[in-house]
Parts: sequence; C-alpha cells; structure tokens
Amino acid sequence: MTQLSPTGNEFVASKGSDLTTSTFTRGTNLSGGTHEVINPATATIETTVELASLQDTDAAIERAAAAFASWRAVAPADRGRLLRRFAELVDAANEELAQLEVRNSGHTIGNARWEAGNVRDVLNYYSAAPERLIGKQIPVAGGIDVTFAEPLGVIGIIVPWNFPMPIAGWGFAPALAAGNTVVLKPAELTPLTAIRLAELALEAGIPPDVFTVLPGKGSIVGQRFVTHPAVRKVCFTGSTSVGQQIMRGAADQVKRITLELGGKSANIVFADSDIEKAAATAPYGVFDNAGQDCCARSRILVEASVYDRFLALLEPAVAGVQVIDPALPEAEMGPLISARQREVVSSYVEGDSVDVAFRGDAPEGPGFWYPPTVVLPRSTSDRVWREEVFGPVVSVLPFTGEADAIAKANDTEYGLSGSIWTRDLGRALRVSRAVEAGNLSVNSHSSVRYSTPFGGFKQSGIGRELGPDALAAFTETKNVFYAND
Ligand code: NAD
Repeated sequence: MTQLSPTGNEFVASKGSDLTTSTFTRGTNLSGGTHEVINPATATIETTVELASLQDTDAAIERAAAAFASWRAVAPADRGRLLRRFAELVDAANEELAQLEVRNSGHTIGNARWEAGNVRDVLNYYSAAPERLIGKQIPVAGGIDVTFAEPLGVIGIIVPWNFPMPIAGWGFAPALAAGNTVVLKPAELTPLTAIRLAELALEAGIPPDVFTVLPGKGSIVGQRFVTHPAVRKVCFTGSTSVGQQIMRGAADQVKRITLELGGKSANIVFADSDIEKAAATAPYGVFDNAGQDCCARSRILVEASVYDRFLALLEPAVAGVQVIDPALPEAEMGPLISARQREVVSSYVEGDSVDVAFRGDAPEGPGFWYPPTVVLPRSTSDRVWREEVFGPVVSVLPFTGEADAIAKANDTEYGLSGSIWTRDLGRALRVSRAVEAGNLSVNSHSSVRYSTPFGGFKQSGIGRELGPDALAAFTETKNVFYAND
C-alpha cells in the first residue's frame, strides 16, 4: 500500500488543535497540485493535501495490478485474519478518525464515531467472507461441473464527500475480502480519514499496493479509473450526473460498475400512524448530516386529514434540532460541507417561488451554516420538490388515500430510500411493495445496516452494496467442467 501524504515530509493531521496529533509517514511524492482542506464549521484551513496527477494514478494502478497475483493467493483464513487486524486498528483509532472527520467534514462527533465504527464493523463482517466464497458443484453428465468466485483484479473506488468513511469501507472491505486490490479516490474536499485508513491497513499487515488511497481530482484520478484497462471495476458513489458519465465511459471496456447515486426519498405519514412519533422523528430522517445524505427523506407526504396537526407537531421538533459546533457531544447537526454547497442549498429556498413554513436555528458567523428549513411547495413540479437539495431543506405536501401517496412517492426519477408510517400491517405491506425504492423502513427511518443490502432503483443507481451478497459484485463466476476421462 502506498502512503500518500500531504506536503512536506510528514503530515500532521490535527494541526493547531488540542487533539492527538497523527503523523502520516511519507511514501510517494504526488505531483497533481495541492488542495487546502477547510474545516466547514469555522471556514479555516485545516491542512493542505497533495493531489495525485495522471502519472501518479497510472503508477498506483500498475502497482495495484502487480500486487493482485500475490494478494489473491493469500490463504483465505489469512486474508480474513488481516482484515480483522485492520478492523482492530480502526477500532483503536475510532476517536482519532472521528475527530478528523469532525474537522474535515463538519460531521457531529456522535455521527463521526458511528462512521468510524461502521468501517470496523464492515471489515469484521467481510473478514468472514474469504473462507465462505463457496462455489457450486452442479450435476452434469460425463464429469464434474464446478463454479468458482474469482476476484476481478484492481477495483477503483470513487467516494463522495458526504460520508467519507462508511462509503469507502463499503467498497474496500468486500473488494479486499474477495481477493481484489483497491485504488480509492476520496472526494477532493474530504480526503483525511481515507488517508488515515490506508495507513492503518498497512500497519495491520495488508501488503503494500493492495490498498492505495489517491487523493485527487475527479476529472483526473476518478476519470483514469474509468479509462485505465487494468481497473476491472469502478464503484462510484456520488451525483447522478457524474454517475452517468462513468457509465458511458465504462462502456468502452465493458467495465463493471456499481453506482450509488442521488435520492429524493419520501416519508409517507398515514393518518392511522403514531403522528407524534412521525413528527418528532421526521427532522432526523432528513436533517442528519445537515441533509447531505443520499437517503434524506426530503419529501414528507402527509395524509390530508392529519396534515395541519402534523405540521403543528413538526415545528417544535425542527426548532429542537441542536445545530451547534459539531465537536460538542450534544450536537445533532453541523454545517454544510462548503460555501458552494450553501449557495446551492440557498438557491432552492430564496425567492418568491417557495413558501417557507418555518425554520430551526443555526449559528451565525464563520462556517457554512444553514438552518433546518421546512417548505411548502405549491405543486409537485416545484424544483424544491423534484431535485435533490442535499442540504437541510424538507418539503411537505398532503395526499389523499393510499393510491395518491404511492403515486406521489414514485413521481421522481430517483428510488433510493423512504419511510412509511402506519399502524395498519396490510397497508405497510402494500405500500412498501409499491414504492419504487431500494431501502424502505416502516415506522422508522433506518436504511443502512452493514448486514443488509443497500442501493437504488431507477436513477439512484445500479447494483447493491453491503449485506451477504456484496461479494458477488467483486467476483466473476467461473464455470469449469472436468471430464471423467
Ligand atoms: P460528485 O458526483 O460531484 O463526486 C463524487 C466523487 O466523484 C468525488 O470523489 C469526485 O471527485 C468524483 N468525480 C467527479 N467527477 C468525476 C469524473 N468525471 N470521473 C470520475 N470521478 C469523478 O458527488 P458529491 O458532490 O461528492 O456527492 C454528493 C452526491 O453523492 C449526491 O448526489 C448524493 O446523493 C450522492 N450520494 C449517493 C449515495 C448513495 O449511496 N446512493 C451516497 C452518498 C452520496
């Protein structure tokens, strides 16, 4: 594995803070320029990271391709042990990784600790996989027919800025478990935890060049993952528009892809539900991570007969969301990732075309803060109702009856997630089967567990991550017939 360090001979990750200082030893000089990492809560520069150039990327891919033969040959039990050791080191570094994420991404400390824990859990979960990559023996005449789950080679993983740690882990853990080598590009804005994870992998004994983190630009490093013939699969999480470009590019080499893209998920509240609970939890179903969550339930559909009551209950719930310094333990929402993202989010709310029902609080002063905001669209063609805002803005509309709820929920190009609130079991069954989305929850807002599949319908993506079947996305099925002769 290559250690990619920012400027100078060592990288001090927690510059200027009272946190434990982490030092990344230097491995390779990167020549693709530099990027200043900004703390979104203070708008101050945290550190500077060297970026990989096209040449650096090619060299890393070639080293990963060379490392593939020996990594796939590591005995399954040993590969599992290495992944468990990696998980132990991630666990031991939980607080350090979490603090790094608070400063790099503005995540609340509670969320960031969960995210580092999720990387540990995903590594542990897939550490059992190398010994369970079981093929089939299929009865045929004249011999024996056997299937093998063969690793693909080098996997390119492209990560967005909204959940830098979990999304990296959902890719690299099963990819490595299946015997592939990995090159991973974090988002330009949020490279710090990925760089640290790569160092922990090396410390755990995962051999050099098996897992390489390449901070860099999407248009250079990410694009090269798509065009380099030694990269056999690209796992991309990010916007639908970039996902479409990656899918087009992958066609040239019939390259395998997994795409996890945008969302505009519905939170459907029926009149027979526990309205108090539905209203109290709705803010957390959309404002978690300041709404920068592909699963954000950003369209609330409320049955007309309880619409006014729901809004009356939602207002104090939104006012109660603790939007404060994300490093404080009681923080429930931090800032947006960047000034640019704040402009994008504001563009959905400012002006005469949108009616703001009410807002929560947000700190004034430096940092990319935006208050939790509830809007009442005038119709389902409003931009704020149709497009992914990726910020703390939720739209609420009434519906009349089950069929209307389903039609409105499905009236979107996306299909990632959603929630259904009802006490009627039959309705829960009917509606959950009718909503076109990959991850639904009934009477809760849960969508992601490492042991269950995650991914989107329609333009929210292709393929599934996590759960028992993720290994299939990182292997090819080979069928071999052995003749009796
Ligand atoms: P983005 O598409 O701008 O960038 C995602 C990643 O792709 C970054 O690492 C970026 O550098 C890289 N990239 C950009 N252009 C590229 C190119 N031409 N070729 C290759 N790589 C390129 O998305 P973002 O703004 O970082 O993240 C927000 C988006 O991600 C939202 O739309 C959100 O819904 C989506 N997302 C989806 C999921 C999911 O699982 N479905 C999870 C998180 C985020």
